[in-house]
Amino acid sequence: MSSPTGLLLLFTVCSVLSLQARADDVLRIMLEEPVAGEIHGGVGNLRGWAVATDGIDKIEIMIDGVYAFDAPYGGARGDVGSAFPEVANASESGFSLAYAYSNLSPGSHTISAVAHTLEGDTQTSSATFETVRFKQSFISGADAVDLAATSCTVAGDEISASNALIGGDRYDMVLDWRTAEQGFEIIKVVEDVNAVSVDNDSDSDTADDNAATWQPPANVEWIEYNFNVTDTFCDDPEGFCAGWLENASQECKDNYQLGGSPQNTQTRLQYESCVDEMVFKPYISSVADRTTTPLTDAQRSNAATLQSAGWDQPVSQAVQFRVAADIPTPIVEASKEGMLAAIDLLGNYGPLRVYLVGNDLDLADELANDFCDYNYRPDEKSRCLADQGESIREMAYIYPGGNGFQQSSWNLAPPVQSFVHNPYADENNQHSVAEGELVSDKIVNAHEYFHVYQGAHNIHRGADDLSFGWSTTRWVEEGAAVYFEQFISARLGWQTEQVVKNRVVNDLKAMKSFAARFPDISIRDVDTSAQTSRLLSYCGELCIGALQYEFGHIAFRYLEAKTSQDAVLFNYWDEYTHLGWAEAFNKVFGQSVAEFYTEFETFLLLSVEEQLPILGIDDYEP
Ligand SMILES: [Zn+2]
Repeated sequence: MSSPTGLLLLFTVCSVLSLQARADDVLRIMLEEPVAGEIHGGVGNLRGWAVATDGIDKIEIMIDGVYAFDAPYGGARGDVGSAFPEVANASESGFSLAYAYSNLSPGSHTISAVAHTLEGDTQTSSATFETVRFKQSFISGADAVDLAATSCTVAGDEISASNALIGGDRYDMVLDWRTAEQGFEIIKVVEDVNAVSVDNDSDSDTADDNAATWQPPANVEWIEYNFNVTDTFCDDPEGFCAGWLENASQECKDNYQLGGSPQNTQTRLQYESCVDEMVFKPYISSVADRTTTPLTDAQRSNAATLQSAGWDQPVSQAVQFRVAADIPTPIVEASKEGMLAAIDLLGNYGPLRVYLVGNDLDLADELANDFCDYNYRPDEKSRCLADQGESIREMAYIYPGGNGFQQSSWNLAPPVQSFVHNPYADENNQHSVAEGELVSDKIVNAHEYFHVYQGAHNIHRGADDLSFGWSTTRWVEEGAAVYFEQFISARLGWQTEQVVKNRVVNDLKAMKSFAARFPDISIRDVDTSAQTSRLLSYCGELCIGALQYEFGHIAFRYLEAKTSQDAVLFNYWDEYTHLGWAEAFNKVFGQSVAEFYTEFETFLLLSVEEQLPILGIDDYEP
C-alpha cells in the first residue's frame, strides 16, 4: 500500500452548532429590510420584528458597526403574533422607519438591529448589502428628472433605462422588482459619459454569465497580488483577483496572506474570517474529469476484506459508550438519545465506540488512551496519542466544545468505527444543561452517526488521490449529514418545524451573500482534491466550509424535493457502495453530477421566496 502509515483515516471535524435560546424563553429579532445581498438606494424601508418573553426594552440600529439610532418599536405584526402565541405582545412587535440609503457611500454596508430585553439580554440580526446612488445624495425640484431622451429595455423583472437626465447629470440605470418592497428598486446607476465602456470580456466558453455582468462594490482596494501566475483564477490582466471592501480592518489588511504555500495557508488560518471583509472577482473554475476511475486490485481486495467482516451491513454488537465522569447526566442522556435515534433510523453499523469527552484533562487522557487502543495497532499508538489523542485533550481544555470527529479504522482486523464528541462548554469551560444545548448534543450525535453510516457504505478504500469517484466529495459528505441531522430533528420533534425551516432560509440567505462576495464559486469546484486545493489557495477554508455545509445542505433538500427522502437517506448510499458517489448520483437522481450543477446554479439565482416552494416549503412565515 502506498500510504506511508499504512492506515488511511476518514477524519471529519464538525463545526459548532449555533446556540439556541431555551425553548421556554424566547428572544428573536429579524431584520427584514435591508435585505442581505441585495442592492438598496434612495429612501427606503428599514424594518423587521423582535419578540422576547422578558419584553423588549429597545431596538438599536448600528450602521457599519457604529450605533446610529433607536428604531421605533411596537408596530402591528399579526403574523409574528401567531408564530409566537406564547409571547405577550408578539403581535405588536414590528419596528419600521424610512431610511435614506442614499446617504451611505456607494458600496457594501452592514446594518444591524439589536434587540435589548428588559432583563438586559441582547440579540442581533444583520444584513450586508450594496448601495447605489446618484452623484447628489438627495435630488429635489419639480424638474429634477427628465426622461424625454431615455430609452428602456425590459428583461424578466428588470427594467434598463439609458440616458436619463437626473439632477442635471445623465445616467444609465437598472430597476429590479423587489418582493419585500412590493415595488421596483434602482439596483444599478452608471453615469453616462457618452458610451460607457463595456467589459472587454473575452469570449470564453465557460458558462459564466455572471462574469460579463458582475460589478464589484464601490471603492474596493484591489490587492496587488497576482493570482494568475501558473493558472488563471480570474479575468484580470494583472491577476489582481481579490480586494478589500471599503470598511475592511487594518488588522486584516496587515495580516491576511494570499498564496498557496504551506506557510501562507497556515498563517491564513488564523485570520480566515478576514475573507468576510474581502471581495473576489468571478472565479474561473478548473475543469474536472468526472469519469469514475476503474477500481484497482487493492481497492477490490480491500472491499472483499471489508465485506467479509460485515463492514457494510448492520452488526449485532450494540454501540459502546465511553463517557467522562465529569459530564452532567442530562448531557450524556441527550447525546445517547441522539446517537441511538440515528442508529434506529439508519441501521446499526460498526462495531462503533462513542467517546464523550468532558472538561477534565485526566479523564480525557483516559479516553484518549482507550481511543488509541481501540482504533490503532499497538505500533501505531504513540502516533495516535500525539495526533488524535492530543485533539481529545484539546477538547477538554479548550471551550466552547460542541464539536466532534468520526473515524473509520477500516484496515484494522477487525475494522471498527469511532466517534468522539465534546459537548458545549461556556467561557468558564463549564458544561451547560440548557434545553438548547441538549438539543444541540442530540443533533451533533445524529450528524456524526451519519458519517459512520457513510463510512460503512464505503468499501472500495485505498484509491489514490487522483482517482475520481471513490472518496466522497466534500459537499456530498457534509451536505448529506446536515440534511440528515435536520430531518431526524424535525421528525422526532427535537426542533420545531419552524426552526428547521428557519435553518433552510438562513442557509439560502447565506448562499446569496456568499455569491455576492465569491462570484461563480460553487459546489462544482470541490469535487476533486486538485480542485479543492486550488480553491483553498484562492479564498481559504471558510469558503470551502460554506460549500460543504450551506450549499451541501440545500443541495440535498433540493434533491429530496425532486425524488424522495428514501432516495437521499437510503437508495443513494446503497448504490454508492458499488458505484462510487458520482455514478450512484446519476442512477438515483436521474442526472449526471455536472447536469445537476448547472440546474442547481440556476436555482441559486432565484429569490428566497421563489426558492422555498421548490424545496417543498410553501407556507413559510418568519
Ligand atoms: Zn460533519
